[in-house]
Amino acid sequence: MDFRTRARTWLEGHLAHTPAPDPRAWERELGQAGWIGIGWPGEDGESYGNRRATLTEQVVWAEEYARSGAPARMGHIGENLLAPTLITYGTEEQKNRHLPPVARGETLWCQGYSEPGAGSDLAGVRTAAVPDGAGGYAVTGQKIWTSLALDADWCFVLARTAPGSTRHHGLSFLLLEMDQPGRIEVRPIRQLTGTSEFNEVFLDGARATEVVGGEGNGWQVAMGLLALERGVSTLAQQIGFAEELNQVVAAAVASGAADDPVIRARLVAQWAELDTMRRHALRTLGSTGDPGAPSVAKLLWGGWHQRLGELAVRVAGEAGAIGPEPWTAQRPYELTDAQHLFLFSRADTVYGGSDEIQRNIIAERVLGLPREPR
Ligand SMILES: Cc1cc2nc3c(=O)[nH]c(=O)nc-3n(C[C@H](O)[C@H](O)[C@H](O)COP(=O)(O)OP(=O)(O)OC[C@H]3O[C@@H](n4cnc5c(N)ncnc54)[C@H](O)[C@@H]3O)c2cc1C
Repeated sequence: MDFRTRARTWLEGHLAHTPAPDPRAWERELGQAGWIGIGWPGEDGESYGNRRATLTEQVVWAEEYARSGAPARMGHIGENLLAPTLITYGTEEQKNRHLPPVARGETLWCQGYSEPGAGSDLAGVRTAAVPDGAGGYAVTGQKIWTSLALDADWCFVLARTAPGSTRHHGLSFLLLEMDQPGRIEVRPIRQLTGTSEFNEVFLDGARATEVVGGEGNGWQVAMGLLALERGVSTLAQQIGFAEELNQVVAAAVASGAADDPVIRARLVAQWAELDTMRRHALRTLGSTGDPGAPSVAKLLWGGWHQRLGELAVRVAGEAGAIGPEPWTAQRPYELTDAQHLFLFSRADTVYGGSDEIQRNIIAERVLGLPREPR
């Protein structure tokens, strides 16, 4: 059986049993079957409990996953951000400790970068970490917009380990366990969609057990990770985008909206732009030397996905403004898929670095334009 057939058969079989699986149990199911971490780079990738796959197979898996309608992955921060960072900057001991539980789908991670005073300007991080005398650090400060913090078992945190240091200096990339009552408090933030994927995280002497890449090298490690967030993982994401576009096209055909020449032109433009993004992603796949590639990718997909959300509600017409079920105090946020897409995609040009920041990176590091005044 070829790789695509194996992937499709496994997904069809498992989703037939549980079409809407509990997201956490689903992670373990994927892990037990060896589907997590197949994209991890490195010669000895399989020694961390994952199975190695060629680049083509990774793309095929992502395509089949998106096509199958399987739930959004809860473990993507651990698999796609933390794991490649550890593989690049971590010690062998750290890789052996943290990668196998991620590959088994047992450990969920969250990303503690942003703070109330440090978003686009991440070098403004103020969360401080001091040695705790037991080989770790006591971390105190506030993180915000931390996706999945309520469910995560571990968090990687950017914190200031050199007292009095400023900007990019004196930062470290620390690992801490989330289950620390009294030292870590997570407060969910209600989003436009009514759900709370992201949270505020208050750290009060929270114990971080490890530093990745050496104390004081946090900026380099954090930036290496951000390039992953903006770049390579977008290929899999685009395959999901293609499915969403197909659904909008199908809705437009079914409702007759596709007969409107303006809507037709918009649908065709979305299709052509998606094809351009796919080619950009394939061209730059695995390339690490091009400083502009991740920023170009982020700029392309953020705006594209937002425009798709706008088109989806336009295709739905006036009826699309009404919720699928009457809203109640308990369930004020029943949304159609189109409404959810429209509302959630407002965030796409913000997280992972806003559009303005991507343009600054391209201007300064690729085009060599003068740095903007700070
Ligand atoms: C859905 C979602 C999930 C997120 N998940 C996480 C997570 O898991 N972990 C995490 O750490 N963070 C997360 N974030 C936070 C995200 O990284 C920040 O929102 C982002 O970096 C922008 O920072 P900010 O919100 O503080 O906005 P600000 O930095 O205050 O920016 C406000 C506006 O000013 C513009 N701006 C700022 N500086 C400049 C400049 N120099 N030149 C031109 N324009 C500028 C920005 O483009 C933006 O339009 C998430 C955000 C969202 C929306």
